[in-house]
Amino acid sequence: MKKYDVEKLREDFPGLNREFYGHKMIYLDNTATSQTPREVVEAVERMYFHSKANVHRGVSSISQEATDLQETTRRRVAAYINASSPEEVIFTRGTTEAINLVASSYGGTFLKDGDEIILTVMEHHANIVPWQLLQRHVDVKLRVVPINERGELDLDVYRSLFNDRTRFVTFTHVSNVLGTVNPVKEMVKEAHRHGVPVLVDGAQAVPHTRVDVRDLDVDFYAFSSHKMYGPTGIGVLYGRRELLEKMPPYQGGGEMIGHVSFEGTTWAELPFKFEAGTPDFVGISALSVALDYIERVGMEAIAAHEHKLLERATRGMEGIEGMRIFGTAPGKAAVVSFLIGSAHHYDTGMLLDKLGVEVRTGHHCAQPLMHALGIEGTVRASFALYNTEEEVDAFLAALRRIAPMLM
Ligand code: PMP
Repeated sequence: MKKYDVEKLREDFPGLNREFYGHKMIYLDNTATSQTPREVVEAVERMYFHSKANVHRGVSSISQEATDLQETTRRRVAAYINASSPEEVIFTRGTTEAINLVASSYGGTFLKDGDEIILTVMEHHANIVPWQLLQRHVDVKLRVVPINERGELDLDVYRSLFNDRTRFVTFTHVSNVLGTVNPVKEMVKEAHRHGVPVLVDGAQAVPHTRVDVRDLDVDFYAFSSHKMYGPTGIGVLYGRRELLEKMPPYQGGGEMIGHVSFEGTTWAELPFKFEAGTPDFVGISALSVALDYIERVGMEAIAAHEHKLLERATRGMEGIEGMRIFGTAPGKAAVVSFLIGSAHHYDTGMLLDKLGVEVRTGHHCAQPLMHALGIEGTVRASFALYNTEEEVDAFLAALRRIAPMLM
């Protein structure tokens, strides 16, 4: 295996070269969004300066060029996640929109009063609220899988929640707070044994691990580009073709129609049926450059590097008096949520910020999980391919410095 040269990789990310309060920035909020490599930003610039024409708009060379760039990404994404075909890749604004699409289109069509949806207590609000919006139209019941003290799902409860009213299952692949990697294959198998389709929220998985939607056997899988070194404002919904074919459009407008008249309208074929209006074709085109980047560095190498950083951080944090870490599942992703003593997470975050350490504080859009943990929020540090051991050590030194002030 070639050497993992993190310093060289950092040169690709000009966004890392910041200072706050006289300290070199240590960017540890990668779970919220990652920094972007130069070549992705250059791809955006190239498209704005050379190939900006609306996609799927007739025979002009420039429109065809723009269309090719967008559709190349669709093929690239399909191959990257091992979808059966590019038509199973729908471009959305992000994970949030992808989940809303499924809740609205699939849920609104196939779920009926009295039906039950299984989800988990560790879901991001993006995978809770769309189902509650559905409840305004259909009287569906949400059944919630709890976690144990390590932050793992209680699979016995999960299995026990299935009954003859269970019609849908949805859960996150990786928790954005606890880092827990859920056993997707096993959970999907259980759902399919009951004939129930599954949507997996992959927002925190795709940046850290190789995802094969056919191996996982998921029916829907959602993720966001901005968390995986790609442009902001775009995401992907993978859907199994048989299901997508049966589902009605999510939004109406240009691009998604077959024929429109005031008497009635027909829908376009997949995937365009779900892509009303002008898509972010610039962002979509540049996403394939982010995938190239990840492939060049190597997902296994990225995962191994992040794991090393997580271990170093966790070991160091465990030695700090008053430190409480939330989420200790074996094999967890490179996310560490914590509190020091009885200090408010904002105070800890603010002190870290004064030392140049950029972390996230708050409920992380997971208030039900915070409630289950009996807390209001945490401080969260999360690592990406460009973080270094020196940064971890500086983060630990900052924690050691501020901890006595917070006790
Ligand atoms: N699910 C999870 C697990 C997440 O971490 C996030 C982003 N914090 C989302 C969904 C929503 O992603 P986006 O805001 O990109 O739509």
